[in-house]
Amino acid sequence: MALPRLAILLISIAAALVSTPAFAADGTRGTVERMYVLECGESRTEDVSLWSPGVDVGVAREFSDNCYLIRHGAHWLLWDSGMSDAIAAKPEGVSAGGGILTLFVRRTLASQLAEIGVAPTDITHVAFSHFHGDHVGNANLFTAATVLVQRAEYDLAFGPDPAKAGYVPALYEKLKDNPTVKLEGDHDVFGDGSVVILATPGHTPGHQSLLVHLPKQGAVVLSGDMVHFRENWDAQRVPVRNFDQGQTIRSMERIATLLVAEGAVLWINHDRTQSATMPRVPRFAE
Ligand SMILES: [Zn+2]
Repeated sequence: MALPRLAILLISIAAALVSTPAFAADGTRGTVERMYVLECGESRTEDVSLWSPGVDVGVAREFSDNCYLIRHGAHWLLWDSGMSDAIAAKPEGVSAGGGILTLFVRRTLASQLAEIGVAPTDITHVAFSHFHGDHVGNANLFTAATVLVQRAEYDLAFGPDPAKAGYVPALYEKLKDNPTVKLEGDHDVFGDGSVVILATPGHTPGHQSLLVHLPKQGAVVLSGDMVHFRENWDAQRVPVRNFDQGQTIRSMERIATLLVAEGAVLWINHDRTQSATMPRVPRFAE
């Protein structure tokens, strides 16, 4: 059925508004000053094929786990909060995911924030790629921040049965009274196109990634768990436990297109090899 011409025009305008980042009044993008890449734990699996079905069956692999702290004007945005700092008290690690992973924390998030002179109450915005425990582990520290979350993820995490999705409310329940912006798609965090939340569902229903325009390095996309490591990105493999396989593939394709359009680099959160190349606190990316 053909759409009336006015409807097509309105749809086109709406699409343009959604896809074009906003710019500051002088026509330039607003500025991200710097981005810290915080060490927020490590994990080890004895069988990586749970993430790469049919490939490397029975092969062990270690994953990095980062948090990212972005300075923009007077604001601090924390992207992901890693594994719980409480795990640091157990150097032998903690079993997670029904035994498929062992989690380690060698450097706490709190100690890294202290090292750079940022108090948890200084964080004005917090966003999580999704609500799995290795991403919301220290969420309860940030009760003063505005939470930016996809509505689908919020409804699952704060709904009647978060455990069914593998979520652990004790890790993030103190956020329930925070100012919260429930998103249904992309979101330009500071209204100037410099930091944009990208809806990338699939790993979980309300999974999101983050586009950051760094002043010197240029654009980067923080993956969240849209993909877990480089080989899976190259071969478009979808982990066994993802919420929706087809949605995951579509999100990967979407990001691949966006990387080209933005001239951006993909930073894959759990890729230990790539994470080892990142500047660590007190150093930062800019
Ligand atoms: Zn996850």
